[in-house]
Amino acid sequence: MEIILLGPPGAGKGTQAKRIKAEYDIPQISTGDMLRAAVRAGTELGKMAKKIMDTGGLVSDDIVIGLVEERLKEQDCEKGFILDGFPRTIAQAEALDGVLGKLDRKLRHVVSLEVDQDVIVERLGGRRTCKSCGAMYHVKYEPPKVEGKCDKCGGELYIRDDDNPETIRNRLAQYGEQTAPLLNYYGEKGLVRGIDCGTKSPDEVYSGIKEILG
Ligand code: ADP
Ligand code: AMP
Repeated sequence: MEIILLGPPGAGKGTQAKRIKAEYDIPQISTGDMLRAAVRAGTELGKMAKKIMDTGGLVSDDIVIGLVEERLKEQDCEKGFILDGFPRTIAQAEALDGVLGKLDRKLRHVVSLEVDQDVIVERLGGRRTCKSCGAMYHVKYEPPKVEGKCDKCGGELYIRDDDNPETIRNRLAQYGEQTAPLLNYYGEKGLVRGIDCGTKSPDEVYSGIKEILG
């Protein structure tokens, strides 16, 4: 099952990808997570990416395409994968087509997570992420049992550096300019199914996704 989760920052891609991963046993490939891992590791790539991520801009196509291409060749992707946060530009989508062609693979589903801007700002403002296992919470909608601590592993919850109002504004602008055109790109291939994520709980959204995946 080859899936792309498409949607603006804060729509719930990571939240839903983790559910799909657990049930369908296919890996979540989040370019944002891969870049944050490089930032933590202090690599040259991480240092360069951090500067861009802190402004809410997009890291260069060549870099993220390279990361995804290598990742898709790994054995755990043989049964399928969930792309979360990639592709984000038409150039990335075209490169992905090329990579999948080389691997003799085909995209099955592009699930578009639809949500209004005001909801996004509230979601990103309240997002908390576990430093140890990456689990996601929201102070209002999915609060942890103990404030600041992960229910799953007890790890410390943190606020992402880019979840601040100014960076959020820029990320949304980038989404509108660079990523939203992908809805047409994949729409023309008949791959896109939309789902309203703004008014539904994560469980309700997940039920809708399962119907789409079949
Ligand atoms: P994305 O990966 O698209 O940036 P996340 O999955 O990190 O988005 O979700 C952003 C925030 O919104 C998180 O704090 C998450 O707990 C919360 N969230 C996700 N889906 C929903 C939902 N359906 N209703 C309310 N809050 C949600
Ligand atoms: P995310 O975790 O998906 O919200 O991504 C966080 C940040 O990482 C983005 O704001 C970008 O700076 C960078 N990033 C993640 N994925 C990509 C991508 N596919 N292309 C370019 N930049 C990306």
